[in-house]
Amino acid sequence: MRVGLDCKVVVLTGAGISAESGIKTFRASDGLWEEHRIEDVATPYAWQKNPQLVWDFYQKRRSQLLEVEPNPAHRALKRLEQYLGENFLLITQNVDDLHERAESENVIHMHGELRRLRCEGCGEVFEMMDKASLTEKFVECPSCGNSRLRPHIVWFHEMPLMMPEIYEAVENCDFFITIGTSGHVTPAADLIHIAKSCKATCVGINLEQPLNYDVHDIFHQGKAGEILPQLVEKWLSS
Ligand code: NAD
Ligand code: ZN
Repeated sequence: MRVGLDCKVVVLTGAGISAESGIKTFRASDGLWEEHRIEDVATPYAWQKNPQLVWDFYQKRRSQLLEVEPNPAHRALKRLEQYLGENFLLITQNVDDLHERAESENVIHMHGELRRLRCEGCGEVFEMMDKASLTEKFVECPSCGNSRLRPHIVWFHEMPLMMPEIYEAVENCDFFITIGTSGHVTPAADLIHIAKSCKATCVGINLEQPLNYDVHDIFHQGKAGEILPQLVEKWLSS
């Protein structure tokens, strides 16, 4: 496989790429995410029914970000971006900020970001990633002043972000690379079908065979932090 400077590469990452940094994946323990049922913490209904539980859950996830570091897989993607420049796009389902901390630049967080909050009233988005903002109480919108800020996270039953930009990039790429994603969550899991139908070469790296394993042209089974740095070096030197 030759990845030249003229190739367009789209990478889709999932929770598995952050596993070696110490952030638990979704399906690590019987469908529970950090000891919570998904329905209790990651749906609009959960936020309506028990906002304090949802707030506490995301504040814990945010404080965990202060304790973890990017791993070699995040850094390998930065290296690929440095080589390809504008021909590289990283789409992540992850809400952590490890790609940014590995200095990736062209990143779309299709499921939102832990380090941001959004006003329920006016919709404005705010950064909050210092220790001072890890409060136990809800934060009021500094802009309109009369609404609560909610996590800037795409919950189940909500629309992922920036889908037109994502579809355009996937339809036009030469290589579509999935890393650390189980292929269970749509529409992310369907992007590979679009890439394939547009004649992209589809490469996968995952600890286990994902649900859409058969669609990949090339599949590497194992840990992203071990496999990806070697693969990137190989692609860039061939
Ligand atoms: P998932 O949990 O459904 O699947 C993760 C996959 O990664 C699994 O198939 C697992 O075998 C694989 N994996 C585990 N360790 C790995 C490693 N070291 N190297 C390579 N692969 C490894 O994750 P998903 O497909 O991203 O879907 C889960 C949803 O949950 C996402 O939408 C995301 O928003 C959210 N989530 C995000 C984070 C995060 O931001 N880090 C963590 C948990 C869940
Ligand atoms: Zn507001």
